[in-house]
Amino acid sequence: MKFVIVGRGILGSSLYHMLRKLGHDVVVVESGERRVFPSLIHSLLLKDKDIELARMSLDFYREFSVPMREFVSITLGKIGKDILNSWERAGVEIGETYVDWLKSNGIVARGGDRLVYVSKLISSVPFVRGKAKVDLLQEKVYLDGKELHADRYLVVAGPWNPCLLKVKSKSYYCWATLVASRMRELGNHFVYDYEKGFYSRPLLGLGTGIAIVGDGRVIESPPGRRIPVQEDEVLDRARERLGPLVPLYTAGEFCEGTPDMRPAYGPITDRVLYAGGLDGYGAEVGPGLAKLLVDFIVSGEKVQEYFLDRFSHVTNFTIGREPHEI
Ligand SMILES: Cc1cc2nc3c(=O)[nH]c(=O)nc-3n(C[C@H](O)[C@H](O)[C@H](O)COP(=O)(O)OP(=O)(O)OC[C@H]3O[C@@H](n4cnc5c(N)ncnc54)[C@H](O)[C@@H]3O)c2cc1C
Repeated sequence: MKFVIVGRGILGSSLYHMLRKLGHDVVVVESGERRVFPSLIHSLLLKDKDIELARMSLDFYREFSVPMREFVSITLGKIGKDILNSWERAGVEIGETYVDWLKSNGIVARGGDRLVYVSKLISSVPFVRGKAKVDLLQEKVYLDGKELHADRYLVVAGPWNPCLLKVKSKSYYCWATLVASRMRELGNHFVYDYEKGFYSRPLLGLGTGIAIVGDGRVIESPPGRRIPVQEDEVLDRARERLGPLVPLYTAGEFCEGTPDMRPAYGPITDRVLYAGGLDGYGAEVGPGLAKLLVDFIVSGEKVQEYFLDRFSHVTNFTIGREPHEI
């Protein structure tokens, strides 16, 4: 079969490799509108069925040799026993202990958190540069006015999806700040602080106090326009835990959220299919969702929890809380 994939993000790149492995002919179109961050967090410390998608993503990264680096994480705040059990069932080693450098009790997790070098995955995918247009009535995709012929079109354009398709998702802006701290431990640990309301991850993992701090706050907005943000709100909360932090650089981008803030996939028409709604956890669940779309195309198998038709009754919605926040 011949496929055209619109968007070379985490989803488009994962779909490319999966479909090529099955022997299909695949063309990826990418407009170059989105900045790609070198590494993103992959964590198994999620909830419910998302843990399964995250495990599938991990299998994909291993199969396609996407570089990853494991880190110990510390979660601060009350986490229910059922959630801790589900993390252990996913193979994460969990221990509750006093963490000296954070001056707090925390849940120390080993084997659950990684940085994934998603830029390596994305740059491994050949593409045609340009902004594709989707004609749903004709079931055709055009680039520079020329039709791109394919048996199936997979539209995975992230926050640009609602501009291309009649799909119930919205674009929002979120951001994180690179900081310098005297706490060298920040350079080789992840911190998820649900009491103060922030996360911290190493920039490179070299054991220096350089880290990226964010809080998953979102601003609903169409993609493309940079939004001025108040990074001190989150940094002040992080300082209560981590001490002095010097902001070096703040970077933001657009994400795509659905009415229940969980990923979605499914057909829009017979030949145009969609996957998206990865909001702030695309490196965690993206390749897993790509696998569900491929399974649907190959065998018609549906996983209802993530299937797009669950929003058929939705008329309007606002962007909610990101689901990787426990
Ligand atoms: C500050 C910040 C930090 C984040 N940190 C993490 C993290 O640590 N871990 C994590 O898992 N997630 C993180 N995320 C979220 C993650 O970046 C997204 O979930 C992920 O990028 C979504 O992937 P995608 O493939 O759905 O879409 P995208 O990455 O948005 O890819 C879509 C692509 O489609 C292209 N495109 C759009 N329109 C067209 C068109 N008409 N024709 C052709 N191409 C088109 C775009 O240029 C883009 O490259 C973070 C996001 C932000 C903003």
